[in-house]
Amino acid sequence: MAGKKVIGILGLQGAFKEHIECLKSLDIQSRLIKSKEDMEGIDGIILPGGESTVMGKMLIDFKMIEFLSSKIRAGLPAWGTCAGMILLANRIDSINGAHLGVMDIDVKRNAYGRQIGSFITSQLIPVISNNPIPLVFIRAPYINSVGSNVRVLCKVDGNIVAVREGNMLATSFHPELTEDMSFHRYFIDMVS
Ligand code: GLN
Repeated sequence: MAGKKVIGILGLQGAFKEHIECLKSLDIQSRLIKSKEDMEGIDGIILPGGESTVMGKMLIDFKMIEFLSSKIRAGLPAWGTCAGMILLANRIDSINGAHLGVMDIDVKRNAYGRQIGSFITSQLIPVISNNPIPLVFIRAPYINSVGSNVRVLCKVDGNIVAVREGNMLATSFHPELTEDMSFHRYFIDMVS
């Protein structure tokens, strides 16, 4: 019988604790990832929100970046929320440090400007849930364009804010800051 799934959460910086709580509420075991060794045996990984430039730099300093990007390229399920989405992207509009560059999306950082950068809305996303999902944006990116293998899951005001490409999921917003666990459930299904 297969053992219980373990989902890693990149724990270098940002909103990783909230994701741990969400997974716990769904009875899923999680593990904070702070080194290459921590990634041993995980079944999926969440890249949290925070500051993508800082996380990218830490991934390099801690010699994790190539290992992690090759694991994702090899099929490890990965979900990036906000800064995590920026880390996954192949292309980023503004100058940014290191990133994983594994997902065929073109991302605009701080896309909503710095003043009105944070807002909450809600939207029905039928592939994720039968009920409207609250979407929390905090100095969020959105996606300018996607490659042909990328499926757009959600747009807000015409801008792409959630996508899936094979084993990868990316959201501009923060489901871990809401009570609605449908995105977490969806990712757990990707891992299973
Ligand atoms: N603005 C941040 C960045 O560019 C992302 C913000 C977030 O993750 N909430 O990395």
